[in-house]
Amino acid sequence: MLNGVTSCASYCGNPNPMRVKSSMKWLLKRILPRKFKRFIQTLSLVKLGTQPICERVCNICEYEGYFTTVGRPLRIDALCPNCGSMERHRLLILAVQRGGIPQLEEKNSAVLHFAAEPCLEQVFRNKFSSYATADLFTKADLKLDMECIDAADEQYDVVVANHVLEHVDDKKASTELSRVLVKGGILVCQVPIIEGWASTYEDDSLTSEAERLMHFGQGDHVRYYGADFRQRISAGGFKLINEFTSEGEDVLRYGLLRGEKTFVFEKL
Ligand SMILES: [Zn+2]
Repeated sequence: MLNGVTSCASYCGNPNPMRVKSSMKWLLKRILPRKFKRFIQTLSLVKLGTQPICERVCNICEYEGYFTTVGRPLRIDALCPNCGSMERHRLLILAVQRGGIPQLEEKNSAVLHFAAEPCLEQVFRNKFSSYATADLFTKADLKLDMECIDAADEQYDVVVANHVLEHVDDKKASTELSRVLVKGGILVCQVPIIEGWASTYEDDSLTSEAERLMHFGQGDHVRYYGADFRQRISAGGFKLINEFTSEGEDVLRYGLLRGEKTFVFEKL
């Protein structure tokens, strides 16, 4: 076809309009079906990518069956449709069930839970005689700023703060968390962490939601932790005493993220 246009031009010096028109039709025929084919392929991939892989077990509510796909990027078999637990919540409870956080088995512990996840709050509120949720922005028992906690020294035995430290000044927060814990008290926490990075990635010049989404994975995150997360939190007055990792059969059975960790720090 293009050869046709070229050959016409070679006879008279100008492309033949009829031939150009038919060439365009030929081009459209070639391009459109390919695009359409790609569109169908994409739809098929999305459908395949959101279908559950296998039945799972929720160790929080005891639901057994298919979990739901959630997140961006999508995570298959992530959400328990019964209690709303996600991988990180089931990991924390698994750590407790496996004896990795004995302080969370002690019913008399005074527990402060930042940004409490409903599925965990329900478990903890029924379990502990002294339990309070805390948040600066959403409804909670206490309105507390983790960087400047309005609470007396050594008031709590356990602080739970999952996926909070990547939102705040963690130097101030770890010092404050240490202050409100009794000596020997523990901080249980989870954060987004890239273990392959020796150092945490942060850049104070990135302030917009769009920039933070690109650099730190979420519009309200201020860093992406590297392996030095342990040292950064310890500097607030802690020592790391346990890090519970999801692995092996547990990943399959409970629908966990491979290698995700729950960290336990003890106040010095
Ligand atoms: Zn559940």
